[in-house]
Amino acid sequence: MEFAEDVDVLVVGAGPAGSSAAEHAALGGASVLVIEKRSVIGVPVRCGEFMPQEDEIRRIFPQAELGTIFDVPSRLRSVETEAIRIYSPKFRSFDVGFHGYTTFRDQFDQFLAEKAAKAGARIRTGVSCSSIGQGVARTSIGDVRAKVIVGADGPLSVVAKSLGLERSWDLCPAASTYAKGDFEPVPEMYFGSVAPGGYAWVIPKKEGANVGLGYSKRYARGDLDFYWREFLKHRPLEAGKLNGKPVPMSGPIPSTVKGNALVVGDAAGQVMAVNGGGIPIAMICGRIAGEVASAHVHGGADLMEYERRWRHQVGGPLKTALGTKHLAMMMFGSNWRLEQAMRFLGPKGMGKAIRCQSVLL
Ligand SMILES: Cc1cc2nc3c(=O)[nH]c(=O)nc-3n(C[C@H](O)[C@H](O)[C@H](O)COP(=O)(O)OP(=O)(O)OC[C@H]3O[C@@H](n4cnc5c(N)ncnc54)[C@H](O)[C@@H]3O)c2cc1C
Repeated sequence: MEFAEDVDVLVVGAGPAGSSAAEHAALGGASVLVIEKRSVIGVPVRCGEFMPQEDEIRRIFPQAELGTIFDVPSRLRSVETEAIRIYSPKFRSFDVGFHGYTTFRDQFDQFLAEKAAKAGARIRTGVSCSSIGQGVARTSIGDVRAKVIVGADGPLSVVAKSLGLERSWDLCPAASTYAKGDFEPVPEMYFGSVAPGGYAWVIPKKEGANVGLGYSKRYARGDLDFYWREFLKHRPLEAGKLNGKPVPMSGPIPSTVKGNALVVGDAAGQVMAVNGGGIPIAMICGRIAGEVASAHVHGGADLMEYERRWRHQVGGPLKTALGTKHLAMMMFGSNWRLEQAMRFLGPKGMGKAIRCQSVLL
């Protein structure tokens, strides 16, 4: 049988998870092909573009091996921030100390893809995968055979679907855009009926701000545009058109490996359920996926090693975050209850929640 491509490792999707997996599989000596359905990596931006600084990533995921993966050049750091301002439903604000920075998500994803290419991975844009089976991916350039297939194709993963793996059951609509103006170097998060079960944000950049909103369908009585219009009544902004995609908020899926394939990043539900952040975890788990994939190709390592390693490194905090989110869900239906809970927690408790630590201890 003729194949369009025959490689050791095929990575589907060139987001942070896919490019990190590709880089580390290539560094391990595997021949790697990345296919990305978008014609330009990272475009359009559908992200708040907020990244924790490395010291915060270490605090959130103390077991994670970070190596140099978070050495991000200064040109990709738009504004460095020292605190997050959290607004309650009654617009009472709490400043929570947290070291972060805003990035340029399109250039950030392109930077990670360039690192993968430098390590030896080939990247083909404008190529989509429609299904996989028996070690072969059906793609828009023909069938691609691979010893390992890495599904890094985001929250609606066709790789996970083809494998029969469970996908996130709580896909929350979220979207972002840019606003003109001058903003304090403090990201703002707004909770309550402006974004039920989620939050709206204003995240400062060098010029203007990244602004957007995510909510849970469970509590919604309108769509994204409805909530966005409502938010702008409270926080007038000179904002552009929203660009969105779902955020998987039900925690990691039960199993991320099947046969010769694995899924990583949003495809695996590896997102902090308490704040919807997923870029750092996609990079940590992408690296593990790439290392295990190349070890499998060369030494026959068990792909289940990927599942064991990512659960050890980030699984605990992701589980705690999910527990906190379940607690919060009891409050989300009522602005009054949420207001009381936020007052009770105060900046210290909210800082714990943001860092995926238990708010009960
Ligand atoms: C509005 C919004 C704001 C967010 N803000 C933040 C934030 O501020 N900070 C943070 O840490 N996280 C944020 N997140 C979450 C974060 O964007 C994700 O967790 C992160 O992008 C996950 O990386 P990934 O590589 O797994 O998936 P993605 O970044 O989604 O990458 C998947 C890639 O696969 C490609 N693809 C999909 N299907 C196919 C296919 N069939 N064939 C080929 N290619 C395919 C896609 O085009 C995409 O490039 C936000 C999410 C949203 C929606």
